Amino acid sequence: MLEVSGLTKRFGGFAAVSNVSFRLAEGEILGLIGPNGSGKSTTFNVVAGLYAPTSGSVRFLGEEIGALPPAAVCHRGIARTFQIPRPFRRLSLLENVALAAFYGRGEHPPRAKAWEMAKDALALVKLPTHPAARVDGLGAAGLKKLELARALATQPKVLLADESLGGLDEQEMEQAADMLAMIRRERGVSVVWVEHIMGALMRVVDRCIVLDHGEVIAAGKPQDVARDPRVIEVYLGTDASAVQAVTDARVA
Ligand code: ADP
Ligand code: MG
Repeated sequence: MLEVSGLTKRFGGFAAVSNVSFRLAEGEILGLIGPNGSGKSTTFNVVAGLYAPTSGSVRFLGEEIGALPPAAVCHRGIARTFQIPRPFRRLSLLENVALAAFYGRGEHPPRAKAWEMAKDALALVKLPTHPAARVDGLGAAGLKKLELARALATQPKVLLADESLGGLDEQEMEQAADMLAMIRRERGVSVVWVEHIMGALMRVVDRCIVLDHGEVIAAGKPQDVARDPRVIEVYLGTDASAVQAVTDARVA
């Protein structure tokens, strides 16, 4: 569905992403992992149209989309969540998601339909669909769910999920991982899931690729990647929970 080849993104002389290639198959959940600053969000930002690639290509369903602006990418069926949620705080939950439903497709759906799509997306992520439900009072887990609902309301074929586990406790992380698996199952959405910690992600992804300093250092099935000496080296000393995840995966 999605094919990124030889993708490089430079900021001045600094290569945030260097010659990165990966493919996402239909119905797949692909994990994109790597320590902080390894180029994960930048990769998303290029795919989603926020930045044009310095070089390389992004193809979606056979079409080159590397030069398209964000709205056009979304209209083609690629939705993304942001690492740092920034909802419209004065709007209700439902209004936040209805905006995505209304503007996220090339053609605006009828308004009544947009409300339906928004309720549907909220229900899928298990947030209240009542028109009076507010953004205020949502904790980290609720805000991450709202990000997912806003992305899903655009009826994507591909979901780019950036750090869905950030700021969550252990139990919330497991629930968030299950939710991405459920979204794939219920909606047939293919997912690229970015995370700097491996933990809960490793259980759910079909394959993962590992970035370090903007380069792909490993790719394959989660259990193989977790045993890869370069991956272990990159994670040792950067993130204690990742070391634990590597250890757990080796035991498994
Ligand atoms: P990750 O999401 O893996 O934590 P990022 O893709 O956000 O990493 O960042 C990769 C590197 O690129 C970091 O060193 C970051 O400081 C740098 N970077 C990201 N965006 C910009 C930008 N707009 N301008 C300059 N440097 C950037
Ligand atoms: Mg990031």
